[in-house]
Amino acid sequence: MTVLRSGSATDVGRVRTVNEDRALESMTLFAVADGMGGHAGGEVASGTAIEAFQREFSRQPTVAGLTAAVHQANRSVYERSLEDAELRGMGTTLTAAALVATDEGDRLALANVGDSRSYVLHDGELTQLSHDHSVAEELVDRGELSEAEAAVHPHRHILTRALGVSSDVDVDIWQVVPTAGDRYLLCSDGLTNEVPEPRIAKILATTADPQEAADTLVRLANENGGNDNITVVVLDVLIGEEASADGAAPAVAAAVAPVGVGDAPGAARRTVASAVPTAPERPESPTLLGRAGSDAAAGMRAMHARASEVSDRLRSRRITFRVLLFVLVLAAIAAGAYIAVRWYVDSSYFVKLTSGAQGQVEIFQGRQGGFAGIQPKVVERTGIVASQIPNYYLGFVRAGVEEPSLKAARRYVAQLRAAPGFGPAPTSTTTTTAPVTTTTGGG
Ligand code: MG
Repeated sequence: MTVLRSGSATDVGRVRTVNEDRALESMTLFAVADGMGGHAGGEVASGTAIEAFQREFSRQPTVAGLTAAVHQANRSVYERSLEDAELRGMGTTLTAAALVATDEGDRLALANVGDSRSYVLHDGELTQLSHDHSVAEELVDRGELSEAEAAVHPHRHILTRALGVSSDVDVDIWQVVPTAGDRYLLCSDGLTNEVPEPRIAKILATTADPQEAADTLVRLANENGGNDNITVVVLDVLIGEEASADGAAPAVAAAVAPVGVGDAPGAARRTVASAVPTAPERPESPTLLGRAGSDAAAGMRAMHARASEVSDRLRSRRITFRVLLFVLVLAAIAAGAYIAVRWYVDSSYFVKLTSGAQGQVEIFQGRQGGFAGIQPKVVERTGIVASQIPNYYLGFVRAGVEEPSLKAARRYVAQLRAAPGFGPAPTSTTTTTAPVTTTTGGG
């Protein structure tokens, strides 16, 4: 049982005019792609890659599916680049994490091509999981450059592997056990070039909400220069896998299991110098099929079933948001209904002779007897008493005469005064037409 929570942010930065990065944040699939290429190339490359990647993974949400999805993303970008001379030579990085079900339980399967990165924050400590496929990193691997020198090397941005530059690509694929409390970070180099890792670690360790953490990291990269597009996905394991039978499995150390076409980052680190982007298509690793048992098809079906179970469970974590949305919609409907009722009541008037010794003709706003709990209110007192009103009118005025506006109500009162047989005011009456708000009869 694994429950994830995530947040993501992407920004053009403060120097570039186009954001060639793309973030992917869905229920079980997360990725960052950093595109490169002239004209619209970079944007098209990262966009094409993410779309193909997501489409392909949704058909087969497994470790094998993740590998296939990266290869499909590579082919999609490559084929697109051949179709359009302006897009020739475009490419993109891709760093991804996918929640998949395996026979051993839920796993986070990670994939990387290029120099976007994945990290894990475990017990407050930030560890880079992915291996950069860059010229500078190769020199470090060969012992010709220190990490510190590599960080400022003029060729640090030149990639040795990217999606879309060739018909095939080597992909690093590995798995980790999703452990409750662990936080994963996927990011483009626009973050890591601007914000030192200790600072990234501190923000990730002190910002509980993943969306807020993502936003903060992007803001910080901009404050530190924003020389490149910045993209960040933060992924929290809220509920993780139980420790497996072979003992507790901390996410990084014990659980890294090389699977599929590529190797774990550690192994890649040693072999990267010989990695050629044009490596031929290789068959699926026997390790992977072995995981599904001797009956590979049955195993795959089981994994599919488990994956849909996982996504069903993940869906339930959205329920609270749906409930909130529902309540908000209800509140909006209620507010709308109230406004409509209020309008109906407020645009209704009636002229009525009130009963009792002090009874006089008054103009009310509202509906007679009230409407939807809203009682009518007196807006004007006319000072006309029952003895003045001709018999013909008396019944109507006692019952109340509805008018569509205050003006119409006043017109009715004027008509009443002008009616034949309208009597003189009794000597005690001091007011004629007077608004309620005005003090009357004071002297
Ligand atoms: Mg970049």
